[in-house]
Amino acid sequence: MQDVRGKTAFITGGASGIGLAMARAFGRAGMNVMLADIEPEPLAAAVAELEAMQVTAAGVPCDVSERASVVQAAAETVARFGKVHVLCNNAGVGAGGLVGEVKPADWDWILSVNLMGVVYGVDAFLPHLRAHGEGGAIINTASMAGMISAPGMEPYSATKFAVVAMSEGWAAQLAPEGISVSVLCPGFVKTRIDQSRRTRQTRFGGPEASGESVTGASFVASGIDPERVGARVLEALLAGERYIFTHPDMRGLVETRFAAILQGFDAAAASPALAGMEYTTPRGSWPKADRAFARALKVNGSQA
Ligand code: NAD
Repeated sequence: MQDVRGKTAFITGGASGIGLAMARAFGRAGMNVMLADIEPEPLAAAVAELEAMQVTAAGVPCDVSERASVVQAAAETVARFGKVHVLCNNAGVGAGGLVGEVKPADWDWILSVNLMGVVYGVDAFLPHLRAHGEGGAIINTASMAGMISAPGMEPYSATKFAVVAMSEGWAAQLAPEGISVSVLCPGFVKTRIDQSRRTRQTRFGGPEASGESVTGASFVASGIDPERVGARVLEALLAGERYIFTHPDMRGLVETRFAAILQGFDAAAASPALAGMEYTTPRGSWPKADRAFARALKVNGSQA
């Protein structure tokens, strides 16, 4: 999306941290911003701050783990701004624990917010992104935990890997319609993510002022400034980047994971158990998906 001025972005988890930083960056670039968040007071404060910056902004209370709440937020966004061009599915929470010891309610909570919240966002907003025919962008906040799995963070990583997977597939599906899909994968960012139990809904065990965090609080506290992430996301939106990274020093971790995966293919290629096997994966399913994927990536000279 090369011209963002006057366009409208909807951002979940917009009252704090990365979501608010994206709102500031988008607002400075001349976009209208609709913030959605489960925390009403920080939401009102965030909208007031943006308005003081002369940004056209509004807020809507929303729990992304409830489909009806996201549908309502979409209706309010269209009622307020007429059109929506950029959807940022950013709200997220952290939960982790030792294998076999993660509380069932924590699994339900994190899957409902981090994974289904993104599904509900796309389901509710896609008709509105399509409606005006001016093109659009979906930016889903995953994490480096969607690229590499750290022991003790499996519930969080499971949701973030899922967000990466959904983003890749949707990017291929929506590229022909002029709607880009990007996935934001930050490392540690100095936000309140380590206190995310403050917003835990009653049905998942209720709020806790402090508690076990997705990561050590100290890693988050010494993370990068969210303003950097907001600025990086705006850059990536303007450039149409597919994978939005903010911590280039973490590249080696991804390379190590990919190398281990490729080693698995080497072992399969040399496997006596598979020797002489005459089987070719049918063409027409994966290859077709690959072509759409290449178009979405704008690789091999093809255009999205
Ligand atoms: P944050 O806690 O500062 O902000 C998250 C916001 O989401 C809060 O305003 C919170 O009220 C809101 N929220 C929580 N549950 C919600 C729900 N059910 N419905 C609507 N809003 C809800 O944390 P953050 O770091 O800014 O988190 C934003 C995103 O960035 C999350 O998806 C997180 O997983 C991701 N992320 C964070 C880091 C990091 O180190 N901070 C790293 C990688 C990815």
